[in-house]
Amino acid sequence: MALILAGHGSHISPETAGLVWRHVDRLRALGAADEITAAFWKEMPAFAAVLTTLTSPDVTIIPLFTARGFFTQSVIPAEMRLTERDGRVIRYAPPLHEHPYLATVVRARVESALRDFALPTDQTAVAIIGHSTRRNPDSRKATEAQAARLRAEGFAAHAVYLDDTPEIAEIYALTEAPNLIAVPYFLAAGSHTTIDVPRALGIEAGADHGSVQGRRVVYTAPVGVDDDLLDVILALAHEAGAPLNPPASGDAWRGFPTAGRSTLIAGVESAGVLRFGGLHLSRDEVRAWGDDDAREGIDHPSALRRRVRENPFRSLATSDDLPRGWRVDIKTPEQIHAVVETVYPGAVAAWAAAQTGTLHVQALRATARRQVGMYRALETMNAEDQARIVGRVCAGCVRQPLWFEPSQTDKLPCPEPCNHWLSAALEAKT
Ligand code: SF4
Repeated sequence: MALILAGHGSHISPETAGLVWRHVDRLRALGAADEITAAFWKEMPAFAAVLTTLTSPDVTIIPLFTARGFFTQSVIPAEMRLTERDGRVIRYAPPLHEHPYLATVVRARVESALRDFALPTDQTAVAIIGHSTRRNPDSRKATEAQAARLRAEGFAAHAVYLDDTPEIAEIYALTEAPNLIAVPYFLAAGSHTTIDVPRALGIEAGADHGSVQGRRVVYTAPVGVDDDLLDVILALAHEAGAPLNPPASGDAWRGFPTAGRSTLIAGVESAGVLRFGGLHLSRDEVRAWGDDDAREGIDHPSALRRRVRENPFRSLATSDDLPRGWRVDIKTPEQIHAVVETVYPGAVAAWAAAQTGTLHVQALRATARRQVGMYRALETMNAEDQARIVGRVCAGCVRQPLWFEPSQTDKLPCPEPCNHWLSAALEAKT
């Protein structure tokens, strides 16, 4: 069976998807399922592609969002085509906010702020800060429910929003309390919680407290950053009916998606050295292509992911600026594939499908038609404008946009426009 942790991802902050990948690593180390991966809206592997990377007939998707709304109700079902089941059992777990865990965390954040900053409860208001979106009226409900729960417990609590009303800065009009505890109802310490929310509150980025309009403001950690979130992920998988494996410790390089694995291993075996995007693959080691002096040995997927993705943050995993200087010494053929999956999540399945002539390539128009949000507007983009964006965005990528130009090159195949391309195209259009 397979598990997919579905998150938002980001083009700005490594932490939004980083939190999800940390739990993927922990689930793999536990051997919780035969195949375990993440999937994202903004990063690789994309929601639209992730099912093609898995061979298990039984797949459970766990949406890691704090609210039932636009992403859990509209984007994920449309992108993953959950109605086209392909003979597989697809289980879609309830979103995180339906589990009592988040209410416990919110309450704990408030209590520790009261204690650590010696705030009197009767002179302190609480702001539960959600994202929400005007595109889906359900998106605000989970944040509202958290604020209502605190009010029922005697706190002066209000819900405010990054992308809805009342806006975050309105909290200072909603309460006259001299102290404010602001709880970001977001999972990760990503760009919203580290940049956008502090700015809207009027406190310094990175600060856990500040003074605004004569009020003392205490800013807590987001609600998804504690390690025990893993227990909730497992509970949601159980609730969805996933036949999880009993926990067992083992190799950190196991539990990766397997579509295309045998084709990749056979390719390395027969070639001796295989170039895969910016990677040099051999039976003994994997490193950056042309990096003959790679000294830093890496022996764990999380260390490799940090090395190639976080500093600087490369939100497009297949961008052609792969860091150099590292290598992974290979112990088993399967580890070659696991290393490639760590560097280029989801790319092996498309590559192997292209080798066997079974890759499904989809032009911009079909991708745009599938959209439930603003990218739908790209359906009418003409070929000339598409070419301009391809020239700008895809030139710095190790993949070849077959969806635009079906030519044979030694680059990795790209079957449909990625979120980076769609974002750039929409920006150019508006
Ligand atoms: S659309 Fe372009 S930039 Fe995006 S993955 Fe494909 S080739 Fe790379």
